Amino acid sequence: MKVVKMWIKQALCALLACALLAACAGAQPALAEDDEDLEISIMDLTEEANPDETDLLWDFPVALSDMEPDFVRLANKHMLLGKDYIPQPLVTMKQRKADKNGVNTNGGVNKATGSAMQLQETCAEALVAMSEAAREDGYVLYLKSAYRSWKTQNTMYYNRLKKNNGKDDGWVSKPGASDHQTGLGCDVVPRSWRDKSMNEKMASAPECQWMAEHCHEFGFILRYPSDKEDITEINYEPWHMRYVGIPAATYIMENGLCLEEFHEQLAAAIQQYLDWGGDPSVVEPFIQVSAEE
Ligand SMILES: [Zn+2]
Repeated sequence: MKVVKMWIKQALCALLACALLAACAGAQPALAEDDEDLEISIMDLTEEANPDETDLLWDFPVALSDMEPDFVRLANKHMLLGKDYIPQPLVTMKQRKADKNGVNTNGGVNKATGSAMQLQETCAEALVAMSEAAREDGYVLYLKSAYRSWKTQNTMYYNRLKKNNGKDDGWVSKPGASDHQTGLGCDVVPRSWRDKSMNEKMASAPECQWMAEHCHEFGFILRYPSDKEDITEINYEPWHMRYVGIPAATYIMENGLCLEEFHEQLAAAIQQYLDWGGDPSVVEPFIQVSAEE
């Protein structure tokens, strides 16, 4: 009996040892391999996700990298630009003769202000390209008004008030509220209209129809469309072109938006991006605050 008991004990010990050995030799390295696999797969995913993180969190038809904060800047009576807001770099528009290709700047002088016409450089180059394309299609465009400083707008606004017995009739924007202060807004008219005062009848001119159809190809939008007067709070201006860059302009024009509506959508996309944990420094340049009145 004693021998049998000892044999059983030895057998059990051997079984236990085998089990332990199996656990040490088999199970542990297997676990380590699993851990390694898991770690590698996570690292792979992380490496792939990082460069596109902004794109993944940016739920808007125009990519952040396709927009320049200054180019989509809004200026209206609710979103005022500061006294010191001067677009950079500004370039002076040269005088060109009507029989030559390119922008015809009506002498290069803004009749309203008596000063040489300037535009932000990228906008100026886009305007020259647009004018050349129009010219190829048989239309001559004239630049009638371009960049206006806060100070100039201030003078124009108070002159208008004086003329109008102190009443703001909405024809001249308050200082800080003019799209012309961005250096990206310009009044472009057909040759036949260069000496006439502008009114919405100009919309039927083939030059204006051409601009409405093609401006986005050069990065411009119609800043004050006829069906958005209640939103822009500015009368229809078929001549007022605003440079925003080609991707934003294409989205705005193809969807029949005005810049105010674009900004509302942009603000919602920025909020969602931040709610989803996006890097605030990426969207910060696009968040605008109105200057003090
Ligand atoms: Zn204008």
